[in-house]
Amino acid sequence: MNSEATNRFICENINVNEEGHLTFAGLDTTELAKEFKTPAYIMDEARIRHNCRVYTEAFKEHFGGDSRPLYASKANSFKYIYKIMKEEGMGIDVVSSGEILCAYKAGYDLGMAYFHSNNKTDEDISFAMELGIGYFVVDYFEELYAIEEEAARRGITQKILLRITPGIDPHTYVQVNTGTVDSKFGIAIETGQADEIIAEALKLPHIDLVGYHCHVGSQVFAEDVFERAAVVMVRYIAHIYREYGYMVKQLNMGGGFGVRYVDTDPYLNVSEKIADLAEAIHTTCEKEKIPVPTIIMEPGRSIVADAGMTLYTVGSVKRIPFYKNYVSVDGGMTDNPRYALYGSKYTCYTANRMNEKNDMNCNVVGRCCESGDIIQRDVPLPKDTERGDIVAVCTTGAYNYSMASHYNKLPNPPIVMITDGKAREVVRRQTYEDLLSLDID
Ligand SMILES: *Cc1c(COP(=O)(O)O)cnc(C)c1O
Repeated sequence: MNSEATNRFICENINVNEEGHLTFAGLDTTELAKEFKTPAYIMDEARIRHNCRVYTEAFKEHFGGDSRPLYASKANSFKYIYKIMKEEGMGIDVVSSGEILCAYKAGYDLGMAYFHSNNKTDEDISFAMELGIGYFVVDYFEELYAIEEEAARRGITQKILLRITPGIDPHTYVQVNTGTVDSKFGIAIETGQADEIIAEALKLPHIDLVGYHCHVGSQVFAEDVFERAAVVMVRYIAHIYREYGYMVKQLNMGGGFGVRYVDTDPYLNVSEKIADLAEAIHTTCEKEKIPVPTIIMEPGRSIVADAGMTLYTVGSVKRIPFYKNYVSVDGGMTDNPRYALYGSKYTCYTANRMNEKNDMNCNVVGRCCESGDIIQRDVPLPKDTERGDIVAVCTTGAYNYSMASHYNKLPNPPIVMITDGKAREVVRRQTYEDLLSLDID
């Protein structure tokens, strides 16, 4: 089962062919670079589906009923991915009217969509209801009242979850840590405000409080974070039942499972993690003498990260005597801002020199006018790496395309999907005309 542990490459879908070229999902990446030009995001549809099934099967086994995983689409949002999610029976988590529209236009049934965000505007609320969003995940009082008002205006009852902060520190980057009391997200148990908003929600005539949501952070590997959060949440469900007589139907445990970016990252066995979580939920419900609610989780990164790779063409290889080597590529922080934002790790290869030794230490840098425009520091690549070579950056399927910008007026790369050994664009490359299309003469 653990073939992953024996693969010499960072992801399971990566290999080397007879010509010494890097392959992804069985295709030669240097050929893909030729056909689709660079920079380009390459995605492996089979891997996306595999990752979905790990979740859907574990959910069936450990929770059953209506319990289900949602795909957190902020990780990578484009029409085709919603088609995959529909076929895989995944719910979705959306965070803006833009994501809602994208899913809707892709033919996704929004009844299975959960609308997050710590600040939904009146326009967002109205737009989401207009398109028939299943659930709002409500972050704070003002939003609760705004949803009540809009639902009343429309003469409907709106299903909601409340985003509760359980006070768990997942020990990851501060920037992606969201489960503690002092956070812009959610409403804390510790301060008593969570009790207050529940009491309020139960009073509102056009609000159907379905349950609670929590999300402790992202890129989480730490042992028992989800179990601890589950214990806090289940006890809290019992507390509210005793105090207010209200029993939830759903408990949404958020997303956040970590993926491997570099060799030193551990392998996380999602099936086992879900089994452990289920165990914690079942035992705590038993202890508290409450029924097990419908369980929801919303993974993003662990669905798409290792299904993606970015291909670049090398420009200059600057060798500064006694200092560093800089390998410049034809993209950068505009298509992958994660090193600039969080110092995120990535594994890089020179795709056309896979049989050569990685005997040069270098920084792989982008083409933007910004010293911080770095893809990765201290990368070992072959010393003959030169202009025209192809550099592949692995595990870029999550939070790359969706975080892309137009800094320096650089167009966004296409998304090339590999399906059954064939590659095609599912998002085309942005043109300069696209970039100028909003300017008014
Ligand atoms: C970002 C986010 C997720 C997904 O997190 P991953 O680390 O990508 O799995 C899920 N739920 C909420 C509320 C989020 O903000």
